[in-house]
Amino acid sequence: VLRVYINQIEENNSINGHIIIFEDITLLKNLEKMRRDFVANVSHELKTPITTIKGFIETIQVNQITDPQTLERFYSIIYEESDRLSRLVSDILVLSQLENKGGFDRKFELLRTDTEIMQIFDILKLSAEDKAMELALNCEKSIELEFVADEFRQMMINLIDNAIKYSDPGQRVEVTLSADDEAVVIQVRDHGYGIPEKDVDRIFERFYRVDKSRSKEKGGTGLGLAIVKHIVHNNRGTIVVSSQVGEGTEFKITLPKFKDQ
Ligand code: ADP
Repeated sequence: VLRVYINQIEENNSINGHIIIFEDITLLKNLEKMRRDFVANVSHELKTPITTIKGFIETIQVNQITDPQTLERFYSIIYEESDRLSRLVSDILVLSQLENKGGFDRKFELLRTDTEIMQIFDILKLSAEDKAMELALNCEKSIELEFVADEFRQMMINLIDNAIKYSDPGQRVEVTLSADDEAVVIQVRDHGYGIPEKDVDRIFERFYRVDKSRSKEKGGTGLGLAIVKHIVHNNRGTIVVSSQVGEGTEFKITLPKFKDQ
């Protein structure tokens, strides 16, 4: 997309030339479109649970439902949808904070990544146990990384939580840490459903889901990987995914070991 400016060059009251300036505003237009799409998507994503919540409350009121079993079922749907709503709002907030970079209080610390991962395993222990899944850490020696603690946790929770969500019960999730003098490499591997080749490039887009109903059923917001990508890129890292349907998925993140390296 080009924006064109035309200026007349005047001298002694006569026009003796024109300056034509072409400005490439493709990037700007794309950004604008992305922002518009995002607002539209957010509105849609927020509307769905709100409509469900209102619908069930109205049904209870209009039909004066008193049967305890029906009521319990309806209340639990209302509860789940409110929960989804609050997860959505908090993910949207995290994402917008990350975009403004100031979001988290960006205090860099020297993190012991192995200790951090064990703490995250503790947080996710219940969901793993629900599915009889094992969370394993492979790490030969303690690996340090200069990073913002909240960002590290958010990034790892999103990846490990996905690995649990998109696997059949009984499977294993492995996190492998390695490092050299300059970089830390974090691999998160699952033996779950995998991602079809045509979708792999798109999973980092906001609200993109391979299987929308599966993601919803698992409580996903569709923003988890967009958040991960932002954190990795804000920290000058890279993230690569390799996946095979029916075999599993591996996310590999490489980060500079020190912030000013
Ligand atoms: P969601 O909240 O839907 O999990 P994410 O942004 O975290 O959103 O992930 C986007 C989509 O990528 C998911 O809906 C899912 O289809 C796919 N995905 C993410 N992680 C995995 C994984 N470990 N295995 C298989 N599919 C995955």
